[in-house]
Amino acid sequence: LTSTFGILEQAINSALGWREHAILVKPSQTKVGASVFTNTGRIYSGFNIQNKAQKSYHAEEVACINAMINGVKGENIAGIVVTFSDTDISKLTFCCDSCRQVLWEYTKNPNLNVYEVGLDGKIVSMKKFSELYPYPYPVYQDGSNINIDN
Ligand SMILES: [Zn+2]
Repeated sequence: LTSTFGILEQAINSALGWREHAILVKPSQTKVGASVFTNTGRIYSGFNIQNKAQKSYHAEEVACINAMINGVKGENIAGIVVTFSDTDISKLTFCCDSCRQVLWEYTKNPNLNVYEVGLDGKIVSMKKFSELYPYPYPVYQDGSNINIDN
């Protein structure tokens, strides 16, 4: 089914909605929602999950894991939307380095569109993945990348 909204608008709405499910250790911490969307119009969302005992999970990686366990091949991921609860979203950075690596190893797509979206649903910034993470790990000293070469 195709709705009247485009896939990007749907991904934004989904990320905003799932952000509300964020699990925080302290209420003052940041709720984050994320949605990856595919070339075929599917959306897989996630939210940050914190816990006191171990590593917390970021919304971006949860969205990727959601897509993975639903059988989506990374090559079919067209973009990711990330939403923050902070009012000063313009001061915040894009996905952390760990999430960039997760995105890279999953999609291997330097043209992936990465959107940062405010609580009002407006796109604050959009970058190609290659701008955000020009040298994904591991990169050889000659500039070639094992992920691309293989
Ligand atoms: Zn992260």
